[in-house]
Amino acid sequence: MLKIIKVITSSIMLENALGIDFQNTFARDLKGLYRESSSSKYPSSEILLLNDSLASELGIKLKNLHSKDGVDIFSGNKKHLNSITLAQAYSGHQFGRFNPNLGDGRALLLGEVLNKKGELKDIQLKGSGPTPFSRRGDGKSALGPVLREYLISESMNALNIPTTRALAAVKTGEPVERETYLPGGVMTRVASSHIRIGTYEYASLQNDNELIKRLADYSISRHFPDTGNVENPYLALFAAICNQQASLIANWMSIGFIHGVMNTDNMSISGETIDYGPCAFMNTYNPETVFSSIDVQGRYAFQNQPSILTWNLTRLAETFIPLVDNNKDESVKLLTEVLQLIKPVYTNYWLSIMRSKIGLSKEEHNDIELIAQFLEIMAEEKADFTLSFRMLSKALIGDKSKIKKLFSNSRRLDGWIMLWQERVSQENIAVETIANSMDKINPLYIPRNHKVEEALDEAVFKNNMRSFNIMLSVMQNPYDEVESNASFAEAPINEDKSYKTFCGT
Ligand code: AMP
Ligand code: MG
Repeated sequence: MLKIIKVITSSIMLENALGIDFQNTFARDLKGLYRESSSSKYPSSEILLLNDSLASELGIKLKNLHSKDGVDIFSGNKKHLNSITLAQAYSGHQFGRFNPNLGDGRALLLGEVLNKKGELKDIQLKGSGPTPFSRRGDGKSALGPVLREYLISESMNALNIPTTRALAAVKTGEPVERETYLPGGVMTRVASSHIRIGTYEYASLQNDNELIKRLADYSISRHFPDTGNVENPYLALFAAICNQQASLIANWMSIGFIHGVMNTDNMSISGETIDYGPCAFMNTYNPETVFSSIDVQGRYAFQNQPSILTWNLTRLAETFIPLVDNNKDESVKLLTEVLQLIKPVYTNYWLSIMRSKIGLSKEEHNDIELIAQFLEIMAEEKADFTLSFRMLSKALIGDKSKIKKLFSNSRRLDGWIMLWQERVSQENIAVETIANSMDKINPLYIPRNHKVEEALDEAVFKNNMRSFNIMLSVMQNPYDEVESNASFAEAPINEDKSYKTFCGT
C-alpha cells in the first residue's frame, strides 16, 4: 500500500513538476500529421541555460524550472505525465526540389501550454533522439548549433522580430558523430506553433480533403481566428499567412538577417522566424551575401529573400486549391489575386520600417528613392549595414565623424546626408527627438558572426559559458549603448568574407 501511495505521489509530483498543463491539441486534432514518439535518455545531462523570463511568461515556476525535474524533462530523460510526445510530419521544397518525406527527424513536441496572455505555445525538444522521421539521421544535435540557436533566436526576440524562443539548453554528456565527435546538446524551443508550409504540402499529398481541411481549421483557430468569420475563411487564412510572412521578411531585410535555408519546411505559417541553422547577420552591406556552406548557387542570398517569400507562398497556394472553391479554376484565380498582392504588401512593410530607420514618420513620395540611394552608397563604399543606420542619429545631431569612418569614400555620403536632412526637416520634430527614436529601432549590438564563434568555441570546447552568457546579456539590450560593451558593436576587421555557416545537424 505504502509503495502504491509513493508511486502515486511521485507521479503527481512529476505531473506538477514544472507546473505545465500540457494541452496536446495537435495530438488531439491533427491525427495523420504526426507519429507518437519518445526521447532518448541522456543520464549525464547538465543544464547549461534556462530562460527564466520566458518560463514565467509560460507560467512555469522558477523553483520548478531549476529543479532536477527541469533537467530531466528538458533533456528528455523523463516524460511529463500529461504530455503526448510526438514528431510532426511534413514535406518540403529544399533548394527548390520537393521532398515528400521530411518531418521531425530530431525534434519532439511535448505539447502546448497556455501562456499568461492566454496564447497557446508549443514546447518542443530538439536533438532528443531518433523519431519515425529520422531517415538516415541520428536524431541528435551537437551542442554548438543548440547554443547558436539559443543565442540568435533570443537576439531576434530582443530586436522585436517574431521568432521561436529558447527555453533551455542542455549538454547531454554524450558525443554525437559528425565529421568528428562533438559534444551533444538538446534545445527546448517554444513556438506559436510548428506548422510549416511543408505541413500543408504533406497534408495535400495525402489526397484527403478532410485532412487538409482539418489542418486549415486548426490553423484558423490557433493563429488567425478572425479569418474564421468571413465569407471564404480559407482564402482569408491564406491571405493572413501571406501577410504575416511578408511582414517577417521585411523585418529580416531591415536588420541584415540572412536566414540561409528558406526551404518551405522551414517557413512557419504563424510568421515566426524558425529553424536557425546556417543563418547569420550581415556585416558589410552586400546584397549578394550568402553565408551558408550548402547554398552554392546563392538561392537564399540576402537580396533574394523577398522573391523566395513569394516562391514559397506559391507552393502554399497550390495546397489551398481544394480548400478555396469547389471549382478549381475559380480557386486558382482567387489565390493568384492574393499572390499578386505579396510584393506590394511586402514593399509597404519594408518601406514603413526603413522610413523609421532613417527617422521619418510622415510619408513622402520620394522616400523610397532616398532609402535606396543610402543603401546603394553603403554597398559601393562597403560600409557596415548595422552601424551605418545606427550612426545616422549621431549625424543628425551634428556629429558626422562616426558615420564617415564607415564609408571608404564619404563624399557621396555627404551629398546624401544633405538631401536626407532636408527631408527630415519636413517632419517638423526636434532632431534630438528623432535621433532618440532612431536609436530605438537601429540596434547597436547584433550577434556578429566573429563574436558568436568566439563564444561558442569557449562554451563547447573549453567548457566555459562565461563569454556566451556575457554576449547573451548584451544581445538582450541591443539598443542601449553601454561603454563596456563596445567590442560587441564593432564590425570584424576582415569583413567576414570567408565566414561560412553550416546546417545545424
Ligand atoms: P533542417 O535542415 O534542420 O531544416 O532539417 C531538414 C530535415 O532533416 C528535417 O526533416 C529534419 O528533421 C531532418 N534532420 C536534420 N538533422 C537530423 C538528424 N541529425 N537526425 C535526423 N533527422 C535530421
Ligand atoms: Mg528544418
